[in-house]
Amino acid sequence: MTPLNPPAAVLDIAGRLEEAGFEAWCVGGAIRDALLGHPHLDWDLATSATPDEVRRLFGKRTIPIGIEFGTVGVLDRKGTMHEVTTFRRDVKTDGRHAVVEFGASLEDDLARRDFTINSIAYSPSRKEIRDPFDGRGDLDRRIVRAVGDPDARMREDRLRALRAIRFAARFDFSIDAQTLRALEASAPYLGRLSAERVKQELDKTMEQVDCPSRALRLWRDTGAFATLIPSMATASDEALSVPDFLARPRLARRPARRMLRIAGLLAPLGHRKAVRQLEQLRSSKLEIQTVGSLLESWETSGEALSITLAGDRRPDDPEIRRFVSAITRTRVGMFMRLASAIWSAAAAGGRVSPSAHAIRGLYRRMLLIAFRDPLDLGSLAVDGDDLRRAGIPAGPELGKILRLLMSAVIEDPARNTTDWLLQEAQRLLAASGPAA
Ligand code: ATP
Ligand code: MG
Repeated sequence: MTPLNPPAAVLDIAGRLEEAGFEAWCVGGAIRDALLGHPHLDWDLATSATPDEVRRLFGKRTIPIGIEFGTVGVLDRKGTMHEVTTFRRDVKTDGRHAVVEFGASLEDDLARRDFTINSIAYSPSRKEIRDPFDGRGDLDRRIVRAVGDPDARMREDRLRALRAIRFAARFDFSIDAQTLRALEASAPYLGRLSAERVKQELDKTMEQVDCPSRALRLWRDTGAFATLIPSMATASDEALSVPDFLARPRLARRPARRMLRIAGLLAPLGHRKAVRQLEQLRSSKLEIQTVGSLLESWETSGEALSITLAGDRRPDDPEIRRFVSAITRTRVGMFMRLASAIWSAAAAGGRVSPSAHAIRGLYRRMLLIAFRDPLDLGSLAVDGDDLRRAGIPAGPELGKILRLLMSAVIEDPARNTTDWLLQEAQRLLAASGPAA
């Protein structure tokens, strides 16, 4: 297994704690990831010092980020924060929250952690590993296993069911049989979790897991979807695989990829239901807006685009301009990524769908047109004021005329001159008959 090399700043903090007579251990995700050979940025420390003692020791460098749970943030010289958490023991749990008490030992602290692979501690000064639940064995066997009695542990905190799924999908591990049964038994109670915690798990799944479908199929098969997002309870493997095709490692840590993957997941619901679902999950306004408009474009243009791509006929420029204008020029990139993921998932599922070559060709033309041609009212050579000055009465008729002018320019951008547009506006006004 890979050697454990906590960053210097973490060694510093651990050293200070030990000099003051306290224990200091690196714990949790960093140890797990380091042993798996994955880079991990946050090296959390567990200590016998109480939060007050940690604050006294590090003074101004501390931030009280979760004092009631025993967590103090300690800043290093570069201003990066490291979490230092007092050894704790659960005194009360209700499936949502835990009340903890301090004065516990490292062993107590490891015993309250969720999975064996997350319950390994390492002392950098002693170069010693404490692994009372054989987390290293489970890392070797590639198994997610609850610490202690799986049923009891899931009852204490229902979120652990979703965490088990995420870790299994992220590392391509299996879930220990008894843990899996406890997880299935937990599914009907997941509704007790706050929407925020559920959404955070879904987000982490989309952010951390290369193939989210591994997790999403487990959400479906264990009954988690039935409780949390009922409209996804019977989603097909193909539908759940759409986010897998939105990998793009370059975008891995960007919200754009997460939002695209969420859009891919919720696409089968249609944009209205998807927006309602995201509101229920307390998504950010930005995400609701982005996903909503992507899915709305998919609904209005997706099918027509696949028909266009499936035919041998090369679409002409006006046709592409109509698509780009319906999608909105600034969203063409995201929209086409979503569309190709949906088409790729269909192809992988054995259905006929546009070829990668055809999609790339269309995308290139769409981008060119999006940047080159006038496609929105802002790029028309006349605006409402110009039309009023030319004698078109203000009101709904004027809006309608502007939209018709826009369509005429989308058909042929050479028409985008003041002269042609004003003349055409007069003609449209005359054609619409005398004003009432
Ligand atoms: P990630 O890479 O997602 O951050 P992580 O293992 O670091 O993975 P965190 O949520 O940061 O996960 O939690 C840090 C540690 O705290 C975990 O490794 C685990 O030991 C413990 N832990 C976190 N959440 C729970 C929980 N709900 N129940 C029990 N232990 C938990
Ligand atoms: Mg972490």
